[in-house]
Amino acid sequence: MEAIGVEAKMADLLTYAIVSLFFSVSSAVFDLIPEHNFVTCVANQSPQYSATISKLVYSPHSPSFSFIFQSSIQNFRFNSTKYHKLQYIITPYSADHVKAAIICSKVHGLQVRIRSGGHDYEGLSYNSYVPFIIIDLVNLNNVRVDSNNGTAWVQAGATVGELYYHVANQSKGHGFPAGVCPSMGAGGHISGGGQGTLMRKFGLAADNVVDAIVVTADGNILDRQGMGEDFFWAIRGGGGGNFGVVVEWKINLVPVPPKVTVFNIPRTLEQNATKLMHRWQQIAHKFHDIHKNHYICRQGF
Ligand SMILES: Cc1cc2nc3c(=O)[nH]c(=O)nc-3n(C[C@H](O)[C@H](O)[C@H](O)COP(=O)(O)OP(=O)(O)OC[C@H]3O[C@@H](n4cnc5c(N)ncnc54)[C@H](O)[C@@H]3O)c2cc1C
Repeated sequence: MEAIGVEAKMADLLTYAIVSLFFSVSSAVFDLIPEHNFVTCVANQSPQYSATISKLVYSPHSPSFSFIFQSSIQNFRFNSTKYHKLQYIITPYSADHVKAAIICSKVHGLQVRIRSGGHDYEGLSYNSYVPFIIIDLVNLNNVRVDSNNGTAWVQAGATVGELYYHVANQSKGHGFPAGVCPSMGAGGHISGGGQGTLMRKFGLAADNVVDAIVVTADGNILDRQGMGEDFFWAIRGGGGGNFGVVVEWKINLVPVPPKVTVFNIPRTLEQNATKLMHRWQQIAHKFHDIHKNHYICRQGF
C-alpha cells in the first residue's frame, strides 16, 4: 500500500512538473513579440543601418542573450531572466539606434529600461514586471577629451573608470569629480548626481555637465539648446530613467595636481575612532583649504 502511495505521489509530481513546464515554456513563447517584427521595425526606423540592425538586437533565443543580460549586473538578487518579462536587448551604436528602439518599443507596447553601467541598487535598469526591452548602452562608450578647453564628451555607456583613464591619458592637469567605483556607467551615475572624492571642492559630477545629447520618449534627439534649461536641469540629478535616454554628456574637467596623496589612518573603536571622527567634524570647516582639498572616506569593518 505504502509503495503504491509513493508511486501515486511521484506520478502527481511528474504531472505537475510537466504541466508547469508546458505553461512556462508556452507563455515565454506566446508572450514574445515575434523577433522578425521587432527587428524589422528597428531596421525600418534606421534605414541607413538596416543591414546591421540584427546584430544589435538580442532575443531570448539568441545564444548571447543571457551573457549580455548578465554582463553588468551588480545586484545578483536580480541576476536571472526567469522572473521577468524581458523581450529584447538592444545595444545601440548611435542616437539613431536609441531612437529606433524607443519608437519600436512603443509600437509593440513594451516598456523601456535603460542600462549604462548596471549599478542600479534595485536592478531598475534591467528588470520589470511588464513586458520590456533593455536599451543597453555598452557600445556607446566613447570618451573624447579636449584638454585645451578642459572639456570632454563622454558617452553614457562609458564607465567612470574609462572616463578617468582617458582624461589622465590626455592631460596630467585635469580630472573629473565623479564617484569612486570605476565600473559605474556615466549614464546612470551622472543622472543621479555622482558623489566622489573631489566633491568638496568641485561639487557633484552633475554640477560639471555643460551639455548633453538626449533621446526623448517621442524619439526626438536633443542637445542642451534643443531641450531647454528646465529639461537640462532635470537630467542633472533628477535620477536616471526619468526624462529620456542620455546618449552623451559634455563635461567640464577640473584642475588637479599631477600627484595626489592617499593614506589610511586605521583606528578601531577601542582606539577612539568615534572620538577622532567627532573631533574632525568640529574643526574641519575651520580649515578652508584643507576642508576643500581633502576627502575623508569612512569605512567600517
Ligand atoms: C558598487 C557601487 C559603488 C557605487 N559608488 C558610488 C559612488 O562612489 N558615488 C556615487 O555617487 N554613487 C555610487 N554608486 C551609486 C551609483 O552612482 C548609481 O547606482 C548609479 O545610478 C549607477 O549608474 P549605472 O549607469 O552604473 O547604473 P544603471 O543600472 O545602468 O542605471 C541606473 C539608473 O539610471 C538609469 N540610466 C542608466 N543609463 C541611463 C541613460 N543613459 N540615460 C538615462 N537613464 C539612464 C537606469 O535606467 C537606472 O534607473 C555606487 C553603486 C554601486 C553598486
